[in-house]
Amino acid sequence: MSACTSCGACCSWCRVDFSSYELDENGGHVPVGLTVEVNGNTARMRGTDHWPPRCAALTGKLGEQVACGIYEWRPSPCREFEEGSEGCHRARAKVGLPPLPES
Ligand code: SF4
Ligand code: SF4
Repeated sequence: MSACTSCGACCSWCRVDFSSYELDENGGHVPVGLTVEVNGNTARMRGTDHWPPRCAALTGKLGEQVACGIYEWRPSPCREFEEGSEGCHRARAKVGLPPLPES
């Protein structure tokens, strides 16, 4: 089973920005209500530029049990983020979790 369901560190780590074309109101899938506008071309997951960052779509408790409330509709940076990557190690370290084996 993926370590992600008991982690969530990368959803509480840095800004999650993506093309506005991925928003549901523009023909994409990401619910616009969970985002903020950065500029005309770029949207951001709400909460990821707060401190401490935490995506508004994340449910549960970091490091214990978490889920993405819009998993099927999450934006491309979330789809492309790889479990076991360098970014994954860094995000996990920030919340005090050990690195995963390289993917
Ligand atoms: S930091 Fe890594 S293990 Fe944790 S949720 Fe993100 S991809 Fe999964
Ligand atoms: S949209 Fe889902 S996968 Fe992406 S940062 Fe938010 S909670 Fe994590």
